[in-house]
Amino acid sequence: MSLRKTIAIIGGGAAGFFSAISAAQEAKEKGLSVDIRIFEATEDYLQKVKISGGGRCNVTHHCYDVKMFCQNYPRGSRELLSPMHKFQAQDTVEWFEKAGVHLVAEADGRMFPDTNSSATIIDCFLHAVDKFQIKLMPNHVVKTIATSASSQLKLSFRGQEDFMADAVLIATGSAPGGYRLADSLGHTIAERAPSLFSFKIEDPLISELQGLSFSDVTLKLTLPDKKGFKQKGAVLITHWGLSGPAILKLSAWAAREMKRADYRGTLTVNWMGGKKTGVVENQLNQMKMENSKNYLKNIYPENLPKRFWLNLLKKYSIDGDKQWANISKKEGVTICQALVASSLNISGQNRFKDEFVECGGVSLTEIDFKTMQSKICPRLYFAGEILDVDGITGGFNFQNAWTTGWLAAQHMVSR
Ligand SMILES: Cc1cc2nc3c(=O)[nH]c(=O)nc-3n(C[C@H](O)[C@H](O)[C@H](O)COP(=O)(O)OP(=O)(O)OC[C@H]3O[C@@H](n4cnc5c(N)ncnc54)[C@H](O)[C@@H]3O)c2cc1C
Repeated sequence: MSLRKTIAIIGGGAAGFFSAISAAQEAKEKGLSVDIRIFEATEDYLQKVKISGGGRCNVTHHCYDVKMFCQNYPRGSRELLSPMHKFQAQDTVEWFEKAGVHLVAEADGRMFPDTNSSATIIDCFLHAVDKFQIKLMPNHVVKTIATSASSQLKLSFRGQEDFMADAVLIATGSAPGGYRLADSLGHTIAERAPSLFSFKIEDPLISELQGLSFSDVTLKLTLPDKKGFKQKGAVLITHWGLSGPAILKLSAWAAREMKRADYRGTLTVNWMGGKKTGVVENQLNQMKMENSKNYLKNIYPENLPKRFWLNLLKKYSIDGDKQWANISKKEGVTICQALVASSLNISGQNRFKDEFVECGGVSLTEIDFKTMQSKICPRLYFAGEILDVDGITGGFNFQNAWTTGWLAAQHMVSR
């Protein structure tokens, strides 16, 4: 009788499915017999994949340089280096291509299935699960995991029979139950906090301008404890305040500190692509010389939308019907200061609709990143968002799920 290895995957999300399928592929290649089961708390699988990327699923990012890729993780960048050398974005693209899904890169590097539908990814996974006879166990809430005399791990559920497994992967995302399981087995959970959010800002400078975007601004966030964070890139004015890639990056890098500050702080914005005060001063003087007879409301730096310029004049009570020749020195200084260092008060946060993750989770020092196995509890593995790893927006969070899920699969099968 051949010994059949049992692998239990807890969580039917991105990391759980990718790991289960990768384990089945690895076992097939090695000619091993495995019983792989995905235990999912709810009735539905892959719910986040379904809604991801606004329903299009931003699968990964078009960057095949591992070192550069890993710089996009505020937490986990160092630890992911070795796993990504084994399975990175390029491997993801090839994996999906082999499974019949063609991924296409957009100008900003985000990669989506060419159908632009997350259903393509879900269908691909469900087809593979069927092909490899992986058992799907919906409505199975794992309540406890216990070590046993047989050296297997025993999974207990709410209302179902126990299951003995040779290897267990916890891939429960940011669900509290998953953290409780990890904690019960001796793991530390690093402080959790939302990441990837936009800032609530009420200021006359940006009021009524929702939809306006700036391709190149520099941002400096100062928190009440004087801690500072900087970022550069595009921002978008929303009903609420500010969003866009640079704001989301800032929110990710400052996730924990902003939570501790109750999402209050000061955002200093340079709307002129980071140009220094002297440079903008010269630019304004040049405009004054060349347009002395023109009205202030009609002549403004070319990188600014007119509506923004009018808001700026209004905020500082500067008459737009004045000619440039008549602008006072004080007004010139005020305009220059507002362009290079607008000070805006942040009064809260708002979730970004296309992607949302939590930072925090199972402490990375307790994981062997060569295998994704726990250093505390043998036969126990972790993958995906349950780890204290999170990426900025752009496909990096799914790549973490694919990479860590794949790596855990290799070791669960061959250990
Ligand atoms: C709206 C939105 C859009 C997003 N878009 C993108 C995107 O386009 N690109 C990107 O890279 N990232 C995106 N993300 C982030 C990405 O979805 C997550 O990083 C990723 O899903 C994490 O995968 P996971 O498998 O670790 O966790 P999840 O996908 O959250 O899966 C965990 C699963 O475990 C189950 N579970 C929990 N507890 C138990 C238990 N005790 N027993 C059994 N099962 C349990 C849950 O029901 C769930 O099905 C988005 C997130 C959101 C919320």
